[in-house]
Amino acid sequence: MASDLDHDAWALDRDAADPLAGFRAEFLIPQHAGRDLHYFVGNSLGLQPRSAAAAVAEELERWGRQAVEGHFQGERPWMHYHATLREPMARVVGALPQEVVVMNTLSVNLHLLMASFYRPRRERAAILIEAGAFPSDRHAVVSQIRFHGFDPATELIELEADGPNGHISLAAIERVLAEQGHRIALVLWPGVQYRSGQAFDLAAITRLAHARGCAVGFDLAHAAGNLPLALHDSGADFAAWCTYKYLNSGPGAVAAAFVHERHARRPDLPRLAGWWGHRKATRFLMGPEFEPEDGADGWQLSNPPILAMAPIRASLALFDAATLPTLREKSLTLTGCLESLINKHLGAVLDILTPADPQQRGAQLSLRVRGGREHGRALFEHLAAEGVLGDWREPDVIRISPAPLYNRFTDLLAFARSVRAWSLRP
Ligand SMILES: *Cc1c(COP(=O)(O)O)cnc(C)c1O
Repeated sequence: MASDLDHDAWALDRDAADPLAGFRAEFLIPQHAGRDLHYFVGNSLGLQPRSAAAAVAEELERWGRQAVEGHFQGERPWMHYHATLREPMARVVGALPQEVVVMNTLSVNLHLLMASFYRPRRERAAILIEAGAFPSDRHAVVSQIRFHGFDPATELIELEADGPNGHISLAAIERVLAEQGHRIALVLWPGVQYRSGQAFDLAAITRLAHARGCAVGFDLAHAAGNLPLALHDSGADFAAWCTYKYLNSGPGAVAAAFVHERHARRPDLPRLAGWWGHRKATRFLMGPEFEPEDGADGWQLSNPPILAMAPIRASLALFDAATLPTLREKSLTLTGCLESLINKHLGAVLDILTPADPQQRGAQLSLRVRGGREHGRALFEHLAAEGVLGDWREPDVIRISPAPLYNRFTDLLAFARSVRAWSLRP
């Protein structure tokens, strides 16, 4: 019977029937005491695709063999390497290829995009974010407000949760925009909130914010590769995301940025420029004047880091093979199964903070350990010692994120059994 903790037949059956089960073999699974680690931290650092090493080795080999000619020679000349990532990355987030560029890192991209899309004036200088935003995003917006000579004490608006467990309703967003939208220059919102796991309706937020004259940007760090997105159709002005979480591209991997098509030919937009954002056709004439390339490419600064981009190519090939709708289908089942195991067997120990509505969450469930911080730490350490790895968020939250590319139903069973064993300890 599904969700039985004493028998594993149901979990083995579900793994056997999983059409995506074969993708697990495409990843290196860390070992614990001679067995596969039950890894639930793909929301923090995704596992390494087996094909990543060869993709990096190929470019190292070309560097050795071709040196500077590698920019022009071979199947994927370095000069255009970033463009080979454009289409698969655009498919991941539901954007037009021209709207997407792989470059820099997430926090850097947020700053570069805010340089163009956060244009405060005295009467409209505020930025709206969610209360409890990821620290880097908060640091970025506070420093942008200061950079423009405004005071974050008045110009940073942090919307408090109006629901339980840190959930923010669309009605609350609508309300703050109705009351304060006239003075908000930019809404910077998460696709999936990192702490609560709540997923937001990008199109609805964009519509509400644009109706009040605010620019809209999304941080998709916890959404990209987790949920199907329709970024172009959302109408957002810009977005940025990292590739080392659900996108499995390695520690500190190169990030991505989206600029909506309607800004594709806007040489008038202020931007922080570098030579790689200059028009391809004339870049190497090395003229003094900057003329931005059309589309998101026009926000690039530098000659891209090829060795760091190679794992992204390897990883995106897996997303193309699996496809996001199929991944999402498995993810809904997998996370739903985790939820029912917890509700049925572990309710005395764990309290689920993430919305129960599957449309308002991705893969991750954030779990509050009942009984306080020390209790929580003890459970977290017990799980880790048993080869079940989640991640810890102060003061009492364990985040468990089953990734449909490599997690199994038997991983969920191992998690649930381990929690139960801890709760029954003498
Ligand atoms: C992971 C994450 C970051 C990390 O930013 P980096 O620049 O990649 O270090 C920033 N914001 C959010 C919301 C994140 O989830």
